[in-house]
Amino acid sequence: MSTVSELLAAAADRICRSDARIVLAHFMQTTREQLIMHPEAETSTQTQTAFFEAVDKISRGCPVAYITGVREFWCRPFAVTPAVLVPRPDTETLIEQALDVVDKNNVRTCIDLGTGSGIIAVTLALEAAELEVSATDVSRDALEVARSNAARLGAKVEFILSNWFDALGGRKFDLIVSNPPYIDPKDEHLKNLAFEPASALTDGIDGLEDLRCIIKTAPAHLSCGGTLMLEHGYDQGAVVRELLAAAGFSDVRTVCDLGGNERVSCGRLSC
Ligand code: GLN
Repeated sequence: MSTVSELLAAAADRICRSDARIVLAHFMQTTREQLIMHPEAETSTQTQTAFFEAVDKISRGCPVAYITGVREFWCRPFAVTPAVLVPRPDTETLIEQALDVVDKNNVRTCIDLGTGSGIIAVTLALEAAELEVSATDVSRDALEVARSNAARLGAKVEFILSNWFDALGGRKFDLIVSNPPYIDPKDEHLKNLAFEPASALTDGIDGLEDLRCIIKTAPAHLSCGGTLMLEHGYDQGAVVRELLAAAGFSDVRTVCDLGGNERVSCGRLSC
């Protein structure tokens, strides 16, 4: 067994055809289109070994992006490693809203807390040329991934090693955004995400602890009229809106993602 079509057929009962094609193209350093056009192409022993190892990992729940080392977000390729969460399309909802706020509220400075691979910070820096973007993460390894993404994609972002606001002193920003760990540790769904860093997915308490911490501390780091914008779980909209209102935010609202789930909530700090 050594041709492209034979390898794909051998993986068919374990992973889906499109994932198989993505990893095979990756190991053969070619494109999926080439594989479709040349199913008869021979593969090397090295490719076969790497391919079947990948099929095994994917069938156990490993994201394809950890094998290819890349995932697209907002139409740009971001490098990912197991030190960071794989970018989700849900987070594009946060980008849309943040760009809208940047436009309408004359936002000059922004910080992304818990940046991970850097998708939010880098995308905002590239889409809003005048915006000064900073980003934090508590993980050195994650910051390395984010830094390399910013450099490769040509984004100017200031990176800071920090647990939420801890290393920021008295600095204030016009916009604070974050996609913090918000999955409840009891959520069954977590079992399917075992390859991703648990600390990026759940706070280990109730899925709301990091959201609470950010909402409570954000007012001290927002300039007058500044906005706090948070991604959260599909069932956390009401409680996040309550937390924002209790912390003194006004114009509190929630936006749904493309799947129709409440996904991003924000509030404004009036002066
Ligand atoms: N949206 C991710 C998921 O449900 C979770 C991301 C997060 O916890 N910040 O898989």
